[in-house]
Amino acid sequence: MIRDEFLSIASHELRTPMTTLKLQSQILKKKISKSDDLNAHRVKMELIMNQIIEQVTSLNRLVEDMLDIARLRSGNFKIEVAEINLADLIHESVINLAEQVTLAGYPPLIIEITGNLKGRWDKMRIGQVITNILMNAIRYGKQKTIIIKAEELSVSVKNSIIDQGIGISEEDIERIFEKFERATSSNQSNGLGLGLFISKQIINAHKGKIWVESKLNEGSIFCFEIPKN
Ligand code: ADP
Repeated sequence: MIRDEFLSIASHELRTPMTTLKLQSQILKKKISKSDDLNAHRVKMELIMNQIIEQVTSLNRLVEDMLDIARLRSGNFKIEVAEINLADLIHESVINLAEQVTLAGYPPLIIEITGNLKGRWDKMRIGQVITNILMNAIRYGKQKTIIIKAEELSVSVKNSIIDQGIGISEEDIERIFEKFERATSSNQSNGLGLGLFISKQIINAHKGKIWVESKLNEGSIFCFEIPKN
């Protein structure tokens, strides 16, 4: 993709959450300065604050993704491995997303762990892959139960995130791990289509593989397998 096109897509994606953010902040300011009884507006203000946090999180994600793309382009994308337990990382990621899961109308995520999941990996980067796939599952999972499964294989571990949402067509499966590729149209949900591309680079850097098994309207299983060391 050429630079101008990237800039135009990126600025467009940044503008939407930023406009909303400005509006919500203005509403909140008005409520605070005009109200004699702030307590009476507490619930409404909390709701607006939650929306503000959501928008900032989404902006943050966009900027982090763009920085990762810049690092990949300049060859500065490196992983730092140390001994970690994937089971702990999965629990941490799920706890961090718990509120988002509830707010989005999902039952609590189900975790299924088998075997010893210790290995030498980059904790932050593998956490990023898990969070990214989970956030997509929340976005496209139609409020149905999401399962995260991790199992020990002979020389590797395999992680699967299962949703029962909109699914992905056969032709889209081919391209969603590429840069800027999105199966759903941009007015349905926001995002630059960089998350899975970056996830693939992270898993490649661990000498692993990442793939998806999916059927349209039935759901998706996003899997990655990484060698223990
Ligand atoms: P983004 O979420 O920013 O669009 P991603 O690289 O994370 O970018 O995802 C690329 C595309 O893959 C998404 O736009 C969506 O069309 C599709 N996709 C990803 N995860 C799922 C899922 N769990 N169910 C259905 N489609 C998905």
